[in-house]
Amino acid sequence: MPNPTEIRRQLRRILPRVEKPGRYVGGELNQIVKDWQSVKTHFALVFPDIYDIGVPNLGMMLLYEILNKREDVFCERAYLPWLDMEAELRQAKIPLYSLESYHPLRDFDIIGFSLPYETLYTNVLNVLDLAGIPLKSENRSDDDPLIIAGGHAAFNPEPMSAFIDAFVIGEGEEVIGEIVDVWQAWKKTGAAKAGLLLNLSQVQGVYVPSLYEPTYNENGTLAATTSKYPAVPKTILKRMIPVLPDPPTHFIVPSISVVHNRIAVEIMRGCTRGCRFCQAGMINRPVRERPVEQIIKGIEDALANTGYEEIALLSLSSSDYTHINELVQAIIDKFVGKHLTISLPSLRIESFSVELMEKLRGARQGGFTLAPEAATDAMRNRINKPITTDDLLTTAREIYSRGWTTIKLYFMIGHPDETMEDVEAIVKLCKSVIGEGHKIIGKKANLHVGVSTFVPKPQTPFQWAAADNQESIYAKQKLLRDSFRGPGLRFTWTNPKETLLEAALSRGDRRLGEVIYTAWKMGAKFDAWQDQYEYNTWLAAFEACSIDPNFYISRTRAMDEVFPWDHISTGVNRRYLENEYQKSLIGELTSDCREDCHTCGILPIFNNLRRDHPGQLWLCPEVK
Ligand code: SF4
Repeated sequence: MPNPTEIRRQLRRILPRVEKPGRYVGGELNQIVKDWQSVKTHFALVFPDIYDIGVPNLGMMLLYEILNKREDVFCERAYLPWLDMEAELRQAKIPLYSLESYHPLRDFDIIGFSLPYETLYTNVLNVLDLAGIPLKSENRSDDDPLIIAGGHAAFNPEPMSAFIDAFVIGEGEEVIGEIVDVWQAWKKTGAAKAGLLLNLSQVQGVYVPSLYEPTYNENGTLAATTSKYPAVPKTILKRMIPVLPDPPTHFIVPSISVVHNRIAVEIMRGCTRGCRFCQAGMINRPVRERPVEQIIKGIEDALANTGYEEIALLSLSSSDYTHINELVQAIIDKFVGKHLTISLPSLRIESFSVELMEKLRGARQGGFTLAPEAATDAMRNRINKPITTDDLLTTAREIYSRGWTTIKLYFMIGHPDETMEDVEAIVKLCKSVIGEGHKIIGKKANLHVGVSTFVPKPQTPFQWAAADNQESIYAKQKLLRDSFRGPGLRFTWTNPKETLLEAALSRGDRRLGEVIYTAWKMGAKFDAWQDQYEYNTWLAAFEACSIDPNFYISRTRAMDEVFPWDHISTGVNRRYLENEYQKSLIGELTSDCREDCHTCGILPIFNNLRRDHPGQLWLCPEVK
């Protein structure tokens, strides 16, 4: 195994031959380098896609700062190399290495993967392979690094359970340190890795899949997932931090252009709206807000540390942040006139949102983005996103008349029980919107319409629903393509074949591990990249494993079906999700849970945390 000096030496020869060598050298502003020998634990955080996408990832940044604050931990980063660099590394037999110290990933004690979405799964296998680490947990020795993963996709960990030793379920800020503590305590004992895994299974929010066993019914559905030992918890409850800590402020500043060169500050976590399709809204409950002063201080510090000129204020629904007016005013007072771009995404469709953006006018801005998701009242009621067409048209008029020339609207097709009339209504609505623009600013008005295809996700009310089939999606997209013609109109859509893979993997069970492995062996990687994704490779992998993808994609589940993620608890209970699904079938709305608590299950499960943290930062009712 080459050492860091040898790796650096070889890179000098290779890097001039690859595109964007800056991806592979580290040395960026704010990277942290420690003496390798002086720490107890070496931790590699890996984003399983290229540097350009991984560097701006907020979760990675947050954990990088938290872990490196510990003197006994050196946390470094790695990303998946692009195809040209992969070929060079394989050719020169250079193992994948960290960007800070150039140590091979195999030298690390813990490797933590970020898994925000399912189409990264084959990339995880590719990272392990490039690092020379056995892909399957069962083939790894006690000397191999501990492989962990977390992120939204980990809320159904089963498809990746053969490759990951332990999953982090939920928020990582606290549990990541506890995992390091457990690892250090285990290391001192010199015991076998089985002991480490057992100890990790005792940490709330850590799921060790090898300690659980699934059984199946004759019809192929899951019968149960049971723990193998009495000491192992039957259900793994997610980690949730009661109060959001100070945001990260030492963002890595790359020397090459990446997808976002900006400071990102999460103003709140969670959402009270209860949109039934939205996995983030379900798994990130309850809503916790950051105080305005903390956000402003975070921005000031991050600006000083990075020199960035763009600030993104992130949340699932920015207009719902309780102190949004105060926050916007504070931003104006502090930052307007300083040549910064300030974005406030995920705004509700109402005039108030336009007023907010108008106030930020002193800052540079792009187009105005709104996400109605559906175009008919019936469909909006089903998905529980009750905006009215009048509200959308009024908001569009406000936007065009206040000087914006471009509106971006996002819709989804493929919702359960969707009809062609629902799809036609998207066209009609968009033509009305651009019509308003033409009346106000004439030919300058633009409307960009993005239409994605709905994927039913685990841990949501639609976890029982079938995904739309390929023919139906093609027919709906054709209707949209044929209809979206006219001055100022632009239409983009997602590849239905990508949607189908996501639909299979997101509600898959442990048996899909073999399909993922086979697909990777057959060459699948970068499945989230349109130009790299090969649907036929995946079909061949399913066939080679004698598994029908439609079992996972286009099957409506029985209400009492046992799901592969039933032993993973978000705190939101199944009865609540079931009730929401039934309400969606009859088009009945559920109000924002800021108005009435709908007893989703969060409060009884986390009642101690709520009791210990009363007040406005956490938006569920008080617990006495
Ligand atoms: S406990 Fe009530 S208020 Fe809290 S997230 Fe659930 S429904 Fe909303």
